[in-house]
Amino acid sequence: MGVSPCTTNITIDFDCQFRVEIKDGSLTTILSAFCKLLPQMLKDFIEKVVVGLGEYAMGLKKKPFCCDECGNDGEFIWKTRHGKKTKILTVFTWVILHQLQVQCKKCGSKMYLLRKLLGMEPMQRIPVDTYRKLGLIGSLTTYRVSEKILTMFGWAVDKMTVWKAVQKTAQEIDFKLDPEEKPSGEADGTGIGINGIKKRGKELKVFVQYKQGGGVRVAGVHIGNYNGGWEKLFKNSLGVLKGFKKFLLITDGDTSIFEGLKDKVSVIFQRCLWHIPHQLKYTLWKDKDKIVRKSREWLHVMSEVLEICAIRPLVDCEETIKAMIASKKERLTKVIEYCREREYKATVEYLENAKDNMFTAINNRLHGKTTSRVERVFKTVNMRINVGKWSVDGGLNVTKVRLAYYYNGFDA
Ligand SMILES: [Zn+2]
Repeated sequence: MGVSPCTTNITIDFDCQFRVEIKDGSLTTILSAFCKLLPQMLKDFIEKVVVGLGEYAMGLKKKPFCCDECGNDGEFIWKTRHGKKTKILTVFTWVILHQLQVQCKKCGSKMYLLRKLLGMEPMQRIPVDTYRKLGLIGSLTTYRVSEKILTMFGWAVDKMTVWKAVQKTAQEIDFKLDPEEKPSGEADGTGIGINGIKKRGKELKVFVQYKQGGGVRVAGVHIGNYNGGWEKLFKNSLGVLKGFKKFLLITDGDTSIFEGLKDKVSVIFQRCLWHIPHQLKYTLWKDKDKIVRKSREWLHVMSEVLEICAIRPLVDCEETIKAMIASKKERLTKVIEYCREREYKATVEYLENAKDNMFTAINNRLHGKTTSRVERVFKTVNMRINVGKWSVDGGLNVTKVRLAYYYNGFDA
């Protein structure tokens, strides 16, 4: 939509005359006088340049813009260089500028030239450069603090404008797998607080891809209910995923979206490592007619399973790992036996089912990191989410901008 008129160097002279009244010569006084002068100077400067560009463009045989009605880019006549006023938010402050208007000689329709020359969309009040900067600030700190900081540096911007900029910036951000990065990643979820929903109301799910040089990038973000929404997290990446020979995904989420890609995607369930002890509390509660919470037996089962699921870092010897797994297996068999003798039916059933999957995962993971890489990403999210009240969309948008900045190279 926007045009770039700078196909050649245009020189525009700008004379500036100003009058200031100051009560003393301190730098503070001088700078505050400058701040008062700035909007007027900025307005004059932009208008002068834009009129210069307009004159230059109008002098060309083929214009760098065309008629909105008939597409003509040949002949136009000036209607005004100083027409109706319009408001634009620059990175310094709002400026009120006069519209430039021309008329098409072919069809007679009139059109404004100002935003076309500035490379902006029709009616747009906040240019891309401006809202991205505000959007980034709003994702880095609270809206109230954003307003405070901006005001301190001369921006006359309120927190509502920052909020809107975050929403707008987020709409431009789309996460998916990068075909140039590693064919492996991790997906996990964590509870986040949402307005009107008690405590940890919704689940934030994040899908990260491992990078060639180490570290992770974000390939998907979703906020939704605890059970479900996983397909939305992965959907965007399916196309890129098909380009990989094989993709290794570590997750405890629902991966049914990959059913059709079974030969491409191998999934390692990490469920045992982080979720088994948690799930165990629930099965022990189900066995409550046989076992009392926090009793000696309850503590024994819990602590044994916690130990079995815990992984020692810095073990890189294959034989040690094998021995560790053997010992963990033996220990698990004993706990299951202990539970069976005492008729903790739900717990026995649960542990029996988890058993096999659990050791494959430990085997695979022993070489790598002991804690989920997504955990670090969650911390980054929570530092912002925990200082606000959020709607689902508001929370998702601020998270998107923040993660794009911290992990995917987005900058303003
Ligand atoms: Zn026309």
